[in-house]
Amino acid sequence: MSEKHLDKIISLCKRRGFVFPNSEIYGGLKASYDYGPMGVALKKSISDLWWKEMTQRHQNIVGIDSSIMVHPDVWKASGHVDNFNDPMTDNKDSKKRYRVDDLLSQQKDKVINTLCETLNVKHSNDDTIFESLAHMLLEKGKDGDGLLEKAGVIDPHSGSIGKWTTPTQFNLMFKTDAGPSEKSGKEIYLRPETAQGIFINYLLIQNSMRLKVPFGIAQIGKAFRNEIVARNFIFRTREFEQMEMQYFVNPKEDAKHVKEWKEKRFNFYIDRLGIDKSNLQFHQHGESELAHYAKDAYDIQYQFPFGWGEIEGIHNRTDFDLTQHEKLSGKNMTYFDATENEKYHPYIIETSCGLNRIFLMVLCDAYFEDTENERVVLKLPFELAPNKAVICPLVKKDGLPERAAKIFEELNKKYSCIYDEQGSIGKRYYRQDEAGTPFGITIDHQTLEDNTVTIRERDSMKQTRVNEDQILKLLK
Ligand code: ATP
Repeated sequence: MSEKHLDKIISLCKRRGFVFPNSEIYGGLKASYDYGPMGVALKKSISDLWWKEMTQRHQNIVGIDSSIMVHPDVWKASGHVDNFNDPMTDNKDSKKRYRVDDLLSQQKDKVINTLCETLNVKHSNDDTIFESLAHMLLEKGKDGDGLLEKAGVIDPHSGSIGKWTTPTQFNLMFKTDAGPSEKSGKEIYLRPETAQGIFINYLLIQNSMRLKVPFGIAQIGKAFRNEIVARNFIFRTREFEQMEMQYFVNPKEDAKHVKEWKEKRFNFYIDRLGIDKSNLQFHQHGESELAHYAKDAYDIQYQFPFGWGEIEGIHNRTDFDLTQHEKLSGKNMTYFDATENEKYHPYIIETSCGLNRIFLMVLCDAYFEDTENERVVLKLPFELAPNKAVICPLVKKDGLPERAAKIFEELNKKYSCIYDEQGSIGKRYYRQDEAGTPFGITIDHQTLEDNTVTIRERDSMKQTRVNEDQILKLLK
């Protein structure tokens, strides 16, 4: 699948009511999107499946919905105030700002080789080389001034070799003031991850639900990051939704649980969301990539039209977060293990995925151009499809709309369906093929005589005539 496909998916999303550019009447707000009627339904189906998988199917995992705004010390303890940064540089002529690793990823090999030699960085053949160079430049500070220019780093905006400012750290958290005025208010942050809301509540939850290790706490909610480079449609935005589950384990058993969750999470995408296995892979974090809190980390990546991209991280966060909160709050964060008769800070195995990225993955995986029949089909699994069937009277007369409406009402009690009497039957089917609706049900004159209808299957386009009281059974 090529980049061209992404453009086609973006336009399908707008055409069929999945995703719209935000504030379009004002010229739009970069990297901000709104989910239309079909988008909301698809997003909800995905998050419902995740929630069910994590909580309902695991007796030892419970839910929480914590606040987006928390005490600012939470972010000091978590390390986000000091460490949640990306190195960035400004082009002095175009005034454009770039994330250094992203800027380097857009340069020719010759430029990267020169930088590796000058900065004494060993060349690796994957993307981690750009991050390593960016961190090296950051460490050099003013001493590294002019190196980017000398190596021939081109400004992607102007296309010419640019003059660059000293790479500096840029904190990704959105700041705001809580209180009646900027002066008297307290400076707070919009949460950059949902995880901390789980950690600071973990003992309250453990006590109230009488949980024993290993146990998990799951949360779905918005997170905010002031990304310097927000792009690839809804893949990277400044406001997004995370689905996180933090698993509290005995530190002696951390590796076992990392392995368990790696497998479970990978299989979730194949078994529950119907994603093609060949489009998924693991990427283990190397030393230079590991977050400040992590001992071991794996990304699950999907092959998007623009390349492999992370959809979920499985991290061994150790006891970093709990001990940090204990230090800063002064409150005891240990857990008493009655079986072992000892107190400790549990290790935390995190599974953290982005709902919007999964949404994009589902669309990319389902998008199919049926050239033979000149149509585009979203081959969404039944469970994810926003509408399960379209109900169509063949013509708008002879009592067919009334009969179709009756069938629609009956089916709609059980499954979300859509009624359509506009345009030719072929056009109506094709519209729904693009929207991922698995079945088309047509009511014609024969229906009035013998109570049978035609059911058309989206992917095969096969049509079968069945009695109307068989429809529900067939959909099931
Ligand atoms: P990336 O390397 O792509 O910036 P990350 O490693 O910073 O991601 P995590 O902090 O592990 O991401 O967050 C967990 C998940 O949240 C990611 O796997 C991704 O699905 C989602 N996510 C993170 N940042 C964004 C974003 N800006 N827009 C949409 N989803 C995001």
